[in-house]
Amino acid sequence: MTDKNEILKMGWNFDNSYLSLPEFFYSKININPVYSPKLVIFNDSLAKKIGLNVEALKTKEGIKTLAGNRVVEGGAFIAQAYAGHQFGHFTMLGDGRALLIGEQITPNGDRFDIQLKGSGITPYSRGGDGRAVLGPMIREYIISEAMYGLKIPTTRSLAVVKTDTPVYREVRKIGAVLTRIGSSHIRFGTFEYAARFGGIENVRELADYSIKRHYPHIRDDENKYLNFLKEVINSHASLVAKWQSVGFIHGVMNTDNMTISGETIDYGPCAFMDKYDANTVFSSIDRNGRYAYKNQPIMAEWNLCRFAETLLPLINENQEEAVRIAQDAISSFSGIFLENWLSIMKSKLGIFNKEALDKAIIEDLLSMMEKYEEDYTNTFVSLTTRKNMHSGMFATAEFTNWHKSWQERLERQEESIEEAYELMKNYNPAVIPRNHRVEEAIEAADEGNYDVMLKLLSVLKNPFEYSKEQEEYSDLPKPSSQPYRTFCGT
Ligand code: AMP
Ligand code: MG
Repeated sequence: MTDKNEILKMGWNFDNSYLSLPEFFYSKININPVYSPKLVIFNDSLAKKIGLNVEALKTKEGIKTLAGNRVVEGGAFIAQAYAGHQFGHFTMLGDGRALLIGEQITPNGDRFDIQLKGSGITPYSRGGDGRAVLGPMIREYIISEAMYGLKIPTTRSLAVVKTDTPVYREVRKIGAVLTRIGSSHIRFGTFEYAARFGGIENVRELADYSIKRHYPHIRDDENKYLNFLKEVINSHASLVAKWQSVGFIHGVMNTDNMTISGETIDYGPCAFMDKYDANTVFSSIDRNGRYAYKNQPIMAEWNLCRFAETLLPLINENQEEAVRIAQDAISSFSGIFLENWLSIMKSKLGIFNKEALDKAIIEDLLSMMEKYEEDYTNTFVSLTTRKNMHSGMFATAEFTNWHKSWQERLERQEESIEEAYELMKNYNPAVIPRNHRVEEAIEAADEGNYDVMLKLLSVLKNPFEYSKEQEEYSDLPKPSSQPYRTFCGT
């Protein structure tokens, strides 16, 4: 079979619009092969959705395309340039270990970046080896797919291959390549790069490109750059509200890890909270708690400011006027976030309509949960199923009072109590990827046993199912003297 036909059979169907931007935005990459790549996991349903041929991709030649060992006809093979504020400090970054193999056009006409993570060094590697370790790539696969199941905008994972090319992180580890799918990989940091190292024309080109790709409905607006900023503000207000609602802590909300599309990206040190504590920090590198659970909305706003700064010359020729307009837009973030958050949290409590004291009902519950160290996810599951409400917080007079006013609140709406509980079921996941379960899956996979990971993934696929199997996965980690820590996904 000719090269071209073989690639067509796999279903790769690339159209690389990013190459229409100036070369300032990317670097072409040569093949940097890994030894004997083997498939660890492959996402059949995602592959089908984007028009790929599952069987052809699982062959030796197919796996080569997922390992970066083979250039795909019609592909891009580029690393993207970007900068970013890391823990508050500006740095030049870029895809130091990622490779965009192409933009896949799906049978529906949608466009997705296909990116390999861990595929080798690039001009942006800054002394790193450009490689990734199996455990963290499985972690990204599990958590990103769990986020998708939770209906939270996210990049997705198509495959993980492991390789015989060793990767050294103090000790020798198993190397891996993750195939990541995103509606693009344009970051706030891509704009910071354009503004700092390019000029207004580069920013304009990137903005026009991003608008066309992600917010085409504002393309002909008179104030399209201001509206672009507003769209990104809306997307992030909605995204972070969704994170908060499931107890997700991103862990490294640097501006290079924030997408213009509003998808969650970069599953390095992220984790889901077990017991409710607004100060929770998991990441070992977040020493000051900058990205603690309760700070996520504030940090999103801080990041949006850095993004807005890059657009100022496009918003108005007069700098003072541009700053005023942009500040106005940014100051709307907290209100939009609150609206999104209230709407989801009300749904988690079965509330359909609006009353002045709704916010207080939610906040009273959260502060009780914090006081009695209740598990975040399981508390909402108990309220939904009306089971396991005997001990801890549930046994206190405080809770009895709260429960009474909550029930009275539910009675003051048109919808029946049963409808309220149905709404709760759609917003309160029965299962989340708990840290000890993810670790257990990774440990087994490191030993070559993928069953634990596959079982976990199947339970996480529809977290609102409330199946018997999911009940087993609601168990909490054993008490430990050390708080759980995640390490930057290497
Ligand atoms: P992250 O913390 O994953 O957002 O990564 C921050 C930056 O470090 C990005 O530019 C990455 O591409 C880069 N990076 C992370 N790990 C490596 C590695 N092993 N080799 C080269 N660059 C890396
Ligand atoms: Mg990153």
